Amino acid sequence: MSLLRAREQARSILDVDYERLYGLGKRAVLFDLDNTLGGRRPAELSPAVKELLDHLTQMGFRVGILTNRRIGTKDPVIVDLAAKYPLRYRAGKPRKSGFLEILAQMDVPPSKAVMIGDRLLTDVLGANRLGIYSIHIKA
Ligand SMILES: [Mg+2]
Repeated sequence: MSLLRAREQARSILDVDYERLYGLGKRAVLFDLDNTLGGRRPAELSPAVKELLDHLTQMGFRVGILTNRRIGTKDPVIVDLAAKYPLRYRAGKPRKSGFLEILAQMDVPPSKAVMIGDRLLTDVLGANRLGIYSIHIKA
């Protein structure tokens, strides 16, 4: 398998079949931020996205955010997300350390994790190298 090929593609995070992922034994969903949870540099999340994250938590998933954005504490969308979910900014994707650190914090092994993001060279490559199930958002 090419390390740049995602296990699945979706047009939006709202189109992913999370029930199926749960059935596969996945227990954590990691989301990229820009062009994944929101638009290019979202200042806030849409109500539909907030609802989805709540729903995933209710389904039994741990939800985490892994972004390469450099600004953390002054960025309102990051502050809001970090109040509810494990979040790493300046995550250094595709390096392994950011993925492994947030999953350790969430107490879920890579084999039971899903990474959803829009960039092959950061989100998909980083996930695939660790055996994290990768989903590429291709709008
Ligand atoms: Mg992105």
